[in-house]
Amino acid sequence: MSSPDKIVRSLIGNYSAVYIAWATDERIRRRGASGGVATALLRYLLEHHRVDAVVVPRQRVNRGLVYGVWTVVRQGEELERFSGSLYAPTFGFAKVFDLALRRFGRIAVTAVPCYVEAARRLARLRGRDQAVFILGPYCSNTPDAYAVWYALKRFHISADDVVSVSFRGSGWPGFTSIWTRRGVVRISSPVFWDSGFGQYFYGRRCFVCTNHTNVGADLSLADPWTLPPEPFMKLGGATLVVVRSEKGLRFLREASEAGYIVLRGVDPIFAVADSVLIKSTARVFADVKNGIVLPPGVFTILREAAYVFGRALALREGAWPLLSFYHRGVGWLLSLALLVDEGVGTRWGRVIRGIRRLQSAKGQEVVRMLKSDG
Ligand SMILES: Cc1cc2nc3c(=O)[nH]c(=O)nc-3n(C[C@H](O)[C@H](O)[C@H](O)COP(=O)(O)OP(=O)(O)OC[C@H]3O[C@@H](n4cnc5c(N)ncnc54)[C@H](O)[C@@H]3O)c2cc1C
Ligand code: SF4
Repeated sequence: MSSPDKIVRSLIGNYSAVYIAWATDERIRRRGASGGVATALLRYLLEHHRVDAVVVPRQRVNRGLVYGVWTVVRQGEELERFSGSLYAPTFGFAKVFDLALRRFGRIAVTAVPCYVEAARRLARLRGRDQAVFILGPYCSNTPDAYAVWYALKRFHISADDVVSVSFRGSGWPGFTSIWTRRGVVRISSPVFWDSGFGQYFYGRRCFVCTNHTNVGADLSLADPWTLPPEPFMKLGGATLVVVRSEKGLRFLREASEAGYIVLRGVDPIFAVADSVLIKSTARVFADVKNGIVLPPGVFTILREAAYVFGRALALREGAWPLLSFYHRGVGWLLSLALLVDEGVGTRWGRVIRGIRRLQSAKGQEVVRMLKSDG
C-alpha cells in the first residue's frame, strides 16, 4: 500500500489523530460500552463548566420492547446511569435538542451519524453551531425496537418479566445483562449481538447508510476490535477515539490532564475496522453512491443477499425459530467467501488482507507500549 494515510482518510473521513483511551475511574470503565470514555469525558465537561447541559437517550422498556427517549442531564454524577450503548431506536430527539439549544449556553450530545446530521442542521438553523459539541459512536445499524423480543425468545426469557436491558458493560467486550423480575440473565455481548439480533433486525435506511464512522462528530468513538484484545480485556475496556475537530482535541486533552481519562496515540490504521470496509463498499442490491470507495467482493455480495433473506425471516415472527440456524449457515458461507476473495485476489480481498496485515504488525507495538506503561 503506497499511501496508508490517503487510504485511511478515504475510508474513515477527515481526522487529526487517533487514540486508544479509557476512563480512569474503574467503575465507569467497566460499565461503559467499550472503555467508558464518553461517560468520563461528558462528566468532565459538566463538572468543569465546559458545557451547561448534556443531551442523551434514556432507556425505556415496555413488555420487552426496548427504546430510548431523549433527555437533558445537568449533573456529572448522573451520567453513569446512561453508560453503555443503547441498541434500539430513540424518540423525541429534535424536540429535546431544540429545547436544550434554546435554554442552555453550551451543549454536548451523544449521537449516531444520522442524528449528528440532524443536530448540526438544527444548530445551524438556530445560529448555534459553535455551542454544540458532539460525541458520535461508529454505527453499523440500530436494531428495531422488537429486535429484543427476538433475542428474548432466542435465549428463553419471558418478555413480560423484563425490567431493563444493559446491552454492554461488565468489562470488555462485556455482557448483555437482562434484568427480569426473577433475577438477571447475562449473555456475552458478542454472542447476543451475533444471535441474528444485530444482523437482520434493522431497516433499509441502515442497509444503505455509508456514514459508519460518524464523520460529522467532533470525536468518533468505537470499540477497539482492530487491536489485540488481551490488554483491554485485562484493563476492563478501552475506546478507540478518532479526533475530527480542534474542539474535540482540546476537550480530550483537558479531560486527560484533569485525570478523567487516559489517552494513548495509536496508528490511524486501527480506525479501519472490517465494518468500515463493508460500509464503504458498493452495494449490488441497492443504488448507493455517496461514501462508496470499494467495489463489491464475493464476501460483500453474499452478505447483502444474506441480509435480504434474513430480513424477510425477521419480519415474520413465525419464522424466528429458523433464523438462528439460517444465521449459523450464513456464517460458514461468509468465511468461505472471504477465503475466495483473498484467494482469487479481488480488490476487496486485497484491501482487507493488506489492512489486517498492517494492523497485526502494528498491534504488537501497541501491546509493548501498554506493557511499558505498567
Ligand atoms: C447503535 C450503536 C451502534 C454502534 N455500532 C458500532 C460499531 O459497529 N462498531 C464500533 O466499533 N462501535 C459501535 N458503536 C459504539 C460503541 O458501542 C461505543 O458506544 C463507543 O465505543 C463508546 O463507548 P464508551 O464506553 O466510551 O461509551 P460509554 O461511556 O458507554 O457512553 C456511551 C454514551 O453514549 C450514549 N448512547 C448510548 N446509546 C446511544 C444511542 N443509541 N444514541 C445516542 N447516544 C447513545 C449513552 O447515553 C452514553 O452517554 C455503536 C454504538 C451504538 C449506540
Ligand atoms: S446505520 Fe446509519 S441510518 Fe442506521 S442508525 Fe446508524 S447512522 Fe443511522
